[in-house]
Amino acid sequence: MSLTDLQIYIAFHPAVAAVYAGAIGACVGSFLNVCIHRLPKGKSIITPPSHCACGQPIPFTLNIPLIGWLVLKGKARCCGASISSRYPIIELLTGILFALAFLTLAPVKAIIACVFVSLLIILAGCDLNDMLVPDAPNFALVGTGLLLSIIAPSLHGETGSHLEVINRIASAKDALLGIAVGTALIWWIRTVATVILKQEAMGEADIILCAGVGAYCGWQGALFCLFGGAIIGVLIKLPSVLALFRQKEERESVPFVPSMAAASILWFFYGPQLIQTWQLWTQG
Ligand SMILES: [Zn+2]
Repeated sequence: MSLTDLQIYIAFHPAVAAVYAGAIGACVGSFLNVCIHRLPKGKSIITPPSHCACGQPIPFTLNIPLIGWLVLKGKARCCGASISSRYPIIELLTGILFALAFLTLAPVKAIIACVFVSLLIILAGCDLNDMLVPDAPNFALVGTGLLLSIIAPSLHGETGSHLEVINRIASAKDALLGIAVGTALIWWIRTVATVILKQEAMGEADIILCAGVGAYCGWQGALFCLFGGAIIGVLIKLPSVLALFRQKEERESVPFVPSMAAASILWFFYGPQLIQTWQLWTQG
């Protein structure tokens, strides 16, 4: 089966493709868990193979995504230690997003969505878990975004010319503009906010993340990543933000990377619909 055959099959059987994608997504999610656990600690994500916190290896059958955790009821068989619910949550989330990609997007864009979503889940997971965003997946987001833009110009909707090379150049230009806008935007906001708040606002990781989203989604996506992310971040944190105003306690940090990741995924999947809704709303 060639790649074109596969594309045609997916286009005609989106539901079947979504089921397969969901199952593959759950397995990928299992690997993303390993990345989230090990990358902030500077450990290798390849060796050693997954093992329990007590050091015992996990048998293959109990390592099956979601099912393994359900069979064990969240307790390790070797030592009875409880296994974080983060593991099945990440596996389920990755599976759902992979399936959704094939249900809502064109085949090529759906495959790219799986790469995009995986890297964002690692970044968000690391930030939530360790409040540390590793450089490797963050730079990988920028690098793969640019590379995939050149390989698949349809990522940026650049399919206008019958000359493929023109489409590729236009798509690379869109990605580079996205990187530039993403970087500049956060750099300015960070600089101004740091002066106003008199403490470091946003980290370098946020700049790289926004640039990576720009590479995948263009400059509009970078904008949405930042402002959509800010809105999501505030909504999640609203109860504690309100409590803060009442008690005037020390400023609590908002988990910005997960919020930006959520906004970026929303844009990647539903960008055109969001623009349409916005236009309808502003035009009354
Ligand atoms: Zn154990």
